[in-house]
Amino acid sequence: MTSPTLEYPGDLLGFADDLAPAERAKLARLRAYLDENVRPVLVERWERGESLADFRRPLADLHLLDDPELLDDPAVQGGVRRLRPLYRGFVTLELCRLDLAMSITYGGQVGMFRTLIHAGGSPEQIAAWDPGILDFSFTGCFALSEPDHGSDVAGGMSTTARRTEDGWVIDGAKRWIGNATISDNIVVVAREEGGERVLAFVVPAETPGVERSVIPYKGATRMVHNADIRLDGVVVPEERRLPRIESFRDINRAFRSLRADIAWSAAGMQLGAYAAAVEYAQRREQFGRPIAGFQLIQDKLVRIVANIAQTLALAVRTTTHPIDDDVSPSLIKLVAADRLRESVALAREIVGGNGVLLEHDVMRFFADAEAMYTFEGTREVNTLIVGRALTGHSAFTR
Ligand SMILES: Cc1cc2nc3c(=O)[nH]c(=O)nc-3n(C[C@H](O)[C@H](O)[C@H](O)COP(=O)(O)OP(=O)(O)OC[C@H]3O[C@@H](n4cnc5c(N)ncnc54)[C@H](O)[C@@H]3O)c2cc1C
Repeated sequence: MTSPTLEYPGDLLGFADDLAPAERAKLARLRAYLDENVRPVLVERWERGESLADFRRPLADLHLLDDPELLDDPAVQGGVRRLRPLYRGFVTLELCRLDLAMSITYGGQVGMFRTLIHAGGSPEQIAAWDPGILDFSFTGCFALSEPDHGSDVAGGMSTTARRTEDGWVIDGAKRWIGNATISDNIVVVAREEGGERVLAFVVPAETPGVERSVIPYKGATRMVHNADIRLDGVVVPEERRLPRIESFRDINRAFRSLRADIAWSAAGMQLGAYAAAVEYAQRREQFGRPIAGFQLIQDKLVRIVANIAQTLALAVRTTTHPIDDDVSPSLIKLVAADRLRESVALAREIVGGNGVLLEHDVMRFFADAEAMYTFEGTREVNTLIVGRALTGHSAFTR
């Protein structure tokens, strides 16, 4: 049964019941920290579009991902002690249950950036950088999308890397890069000039020729600063190239282990929106009784909970049976994003006019769902990837 300190209203099938006591205790501490310190500032920071970067170090101090007490039995992991994937998933869920921006601000570093370094780096690079990645003294972000190439970036990427005697010179532009202005390093993906390879470089953000500017007037994930990045004759030594990334296939391979995170994030956001909506429905009275007593309100609550169950089932399955193909990540992304989009719209509806006010805690989820619906592959692109696998026919135009 769920412990009194860590309940997940909306997790009707009890997926959280499989967490170990030490994992539950750690997640309860995370929730307490978030509720006491981050939740009270969310509305103001959203309104002003202010970053949550100052919470990264305190989160690192909670040792969510590097507490020896949480490492698994080595016998189960073939001699290596690791965090249980289910627990890792719940860390993402818990952060997103509060706010997607908090999750991206923290997870862009210890999830995406760290995963890339581990999957693409040499043993020496990993050994040198990993401790700093975990304690946030060596920060980074991932720059793939470009101003003129989003969905077709794999075939159309215009950022280039030219080999010189000493290293490489990178020219081009990137767009939408999350955490770029709060990172010391940018993993830049570039096409090798005069070659076929797609390479990745850990570029120090202060290198001459790198220019970052925050994209203003954003209506989703407002507390994450996404940036335009210009790269003009940026000189990077060979030691800053990730040697195990030489193609888009390698990048996809690197990110496979992160695909479950999209489902965990979508589940967390739905749980957050559900908690706010069900609490409001109990409290708000119309026609002389709580709106929670109306059949049409109950229908919406049940639909959200059913979506949560589906998304969590997807997350747990993907976590316990790691992905080793390039198609299922697309299926996971499009299903999780669909469920999320429906749930947050229903939650917003339940809260009525107040639902558009940030203080009622559903509007952030509603707006942020739009960002998640688009990044890491749009619905259309993911549909085309799954469709191609099902039929053997590519419906991409090239
Ligand atoms: C908030 C946010 C954060 C982001 N963070 C990052 C980041 O940190 N790093 C990074 O590298 N990128 C990031 N991105 C970029 C994101 O990955 C792209 O926005 C996404 O890949 C879509 O590209 P696009 O926006 O250029 O849309 P486009 O590719 O221009 O697509 C526009 C529309 O056309 C559709 N479309 C395109 N091709 C086809 C086709 N063949 N058939 C049918 N429909 C099609 C798309 O699905 C979409 O609906 C972020 C984006 C957002 C919004």
